[in-house]
Amino acid sequence: MYPMLSVEEALGRVLSGLSPLPEERVPILAALGRVVSRDLRAPCDVPPHANSAMDGYAVRAADTAGAGPGNPVRLRLVGEVAAGHLPGAGVAPGTAIRIMTGAPLPPGADAVVRFEWARREGEEVLVSRAVPPGQDVRPAGEDVRAGELVIPAGTRLRPQEIGMLATLGQTGVWVHRRPRVGILATGDELVEPGHPLPPGKIRNANSYSNYAQVLSCGGIPVPLGVARDREDEVAARLRAGLERGVDLLLVSGGVSVGDFDLVKRVLAAQGRMDFWRVRMKPGKPLAFGWLSLGGREVPVLGMPGNPVSAMISFLVFARPAILALQGARDLSLPTLTVRFADRVERKDGRRHFLRVRLSEEGGELVAHLTGDQGSGILSSLVRADALAVIPEDWDHVAPGARVEVIPLWR
Ligand code: AMP
Ligand code: MG
Repeated sequence: MYPMLSVEEALGRVLSGLSPLPEERVPILAALGRVVSRDLRAPCDVPPHANSAMDGYAVRAADTAGAGPGNPVRLRLVGEVAAGHLPGAGVAPGTAIRIMTGAPLPPGADAVVRFEWARREGEEVLVSRAVPPGQDVRPAGEDVRAGELVIPAGTRLRPQEIGMLATLGQTGVWVHRRPRVGILATGDELVEPGHPLPPGKIRNANSYSNYAQVLSCGGIPVPLGVARDREDEVAARLRAGLERGVDLLLVSGGVSVGDFDLVKRVLAAQGRMDFWRVRMKPGKPLAFGWLSLGGREVPVLGMPGNPVSAMISFLVFARPAILALQGARDLSLPTLTVRFADRVERKDGRRHFLRVRLSEEGGELVAHLTGDQGSGILSSLVRADALAVIPEDWDHVAPGARVEVIPLWR
């Protein structure tokens, strides 16, 4: 019989043979979701010059000593500076320059007095509050210092990192190549949407959900269609994927007890094969191996055919594999700890991934089951906004238990 592995052992075996793909340079506007391949250090200070955080008057803080509402300090107004412009003069003792938010601090000034703390009288400003040096001044390098490590290699770029790249003056960024991921469904029963559904057939869901999942973790999906339940057809379609230069092959179906030999036989005949049962639910059967073509070996992940199992197996195994191929540092799914609302009996020593909906009750997040947890019930995954992860050694879950959930917010 096939060995039963823990989720961690199985994932460790999948990841152990994978290394990051080569790097390429992409424009920053095309870099969302990409994983940077080189440490990015700031080439300059941000902001590049000290500037005002407020609309007001640039002053020498010492000149405002002792100022108060009853005894304002009079300063001579010697100019004005707006964002994007340079001050025409410096601030000598006893003078002030009108300054706008973001404008460079004039030489000599070390503080800004907000408009509401001053009153203008002709060419004079009456300051009614003493300010310390640095008041409402954003010093050069306040955000980022030249030379600082801002985005380490392995970071997956989010919108804020794209903004930071622009702030640092970058037009492009070095990232790892996106993996091309072949997606194959297997089953005599499967019919694509857009075609009539003959009696006895069902729709192919997995090719589509897996396609979207590949996109969501940065891969390039390469659809390989549906293979009938025949070894030669599975082999032919997987080889077609190899010829299209895929870096990873995903197969769904053909790994459960009834027909698991399908994927296994192909890999055994044309590559190397590992087949396991994984201590998780859904997603127990998992085939992993390597298919060879002309000296090149491509990893193959065989996931169960039930639509929920295929998606959860993807999240647990294919997602980290696709991220690892992109050189991502963090392969784990984000989790939150919440309270579980329901009772679940009869645990079986496996890690259970339960479909739940989160709601806020009495100031905390509570997870409610979304209904039938059968591995073919896709609607309960559609209703879910998280997966509750129930540890292997729990024999039941009681209402009120604290559990980890994986949010499924996008
Ligand atoms: P299998 O793992 O091939 O034994 O499939 C398990 C169950 O999932 C069966 O009920 C299949 O009909 C169903 N199934 C397999 N592949 C797909 C697919 N691509 N889309 C929807 N259901 C599928
Ligand atoms: Mg099947």
